[in-house]
Amino acid sequence: MKNKHNTCNGNAVPEGRKHSSHGLVSVIGPCYNEKDNIEPFILSLEAVLDHEKYDYEILMVNDGSTDGTAEKLEKLRGEHPCLRVVHLVRNFGQQGAMLAGIAEAKGSVLVTMDTDLQHPAGAIPEMIRQWEQGMDVVYALPAHQVSKQSSLQTGQLSLFKSYTSRIYQSLIGRLQEPGHTYISTDFRLFDREVAEVIRQLPEKNLYLRNVFAWLCPVSSNSVHSSLPKDRSVFQSVCIPYRLGRRQHGDTKYNTVQLIRLAIQGMTNGGIRPLRAGILAGGLSLAVSLLLIIVQLLYHGLTWTAWSGWEILLIAGLFFGSIQLLMLCLIGEYVGKIFLQSQGRPPYLHRNPLQENKRKIWSER
Ligand code: UDP
Ligand code: MG
Repeated sequence: MKNKHNTCNGNAVPEGRKHSSHGLVSVIGPCYNEKDNIEPFILSLEAVLDHEKYDYEILMVNDGSTDGTAEKLEKLRGEHPCLRVVHLVRNFGQQGAMLAGIAEAKGSVLVTMDTDLQHPAGAIPEMIRQWEQGMDVVYALPAHQVSKQSSLQTGQLSLFKSYTSRIYQSLIGRLQEPGHTYISTDFRLFDREVAEVIRQLPEKNLYLRNVFAWLCPVSSNSVHSSLPKDRSVFQSVCIPYRLGRRQHGDTKYNTVQLIRLAIQGMTNGGIRPLRAGILAGGLSLAVSLLLIIVQLLYHGLTWTAWSGWEILLIAGLFFGSIQLLMLCLIGEYVGKIFLQSQGRPPYLHRNPLQENKRKIWSER
């Protein structure tokens, strides 16, 4: 294997390594039962990253595979000097595997991507170029998500999956806290400074898409390159890639797991979904009050008696709305406990040293 700087020999990248002068790209690949995909995945990365001026490490996180992925990785480790392998004791799910990779990565810049070859290594050079220009996070999105015109020409997704994912994305977009931008992708590049923030978050049930939405909002016009105007805040951009087909094996997400993931995405980002109930309660209370006034006027003017169903309907709506409102009020307190338990810092400082280092690496 070709490795320009020849600094990644053996399994572990040496401490105090040369990347302070060259910059190191860490590619994190979570893998669960991907025995037949990992070798082509590693080869595809090497073919691309060998042409970059940066050193690189490929950090494969074996998420408790049971199909011989572990043995295969151990074998490949001897053949590929830049390969590092982390084995988890059991299957913790993709989030856990990615977090384990972020904790282990030594890079100046990190990339997370799927190991089933759906995320093409060929998109990484463009992501690195964006990072060199000052972007702190570069999201790679399937071309159909970036281009609105072809939003349903999803190529490798079934029509059902593409429709449901579109509905979900629009729903989750609305449920975000103000200023947060939820980007549905796990193919992303981010600066070490961003990785450091993630590492320090005390949250146990961390969901990366929400964390990125909180940390690094995307302005809608930043799809396709726009140079950062102000480097004192985290900057991000989306770039399109062509979604590939899974090469071997099946998806690890069945419908139930996808629903669980969707709920996690909706509830982990903040307490906005709880507040949707307050709106519903308020609206139905307003409707019931309006009905009461209309009925009072009608029966007052016509001197007729209230019928039984009118009383039942209006009373049901009125007391139901009050119950919903009270429930949501309790939810507001529960939400505050949830936010407190997440323990996210109320503010973060920019690290000017990291920014300077990036300039040095990219200008070499
Ligand atoms: N993955 C993982 N642990 C899991 C499930 C998935 O590490 O419990 C990895 C998997 O090996 C792949 C990536 O996460 O590299 C995405 O999984 P998959 O391709 O099944 O998801 P899909 O593309 O169907 O959404
Ligand atoms: Mg996949």
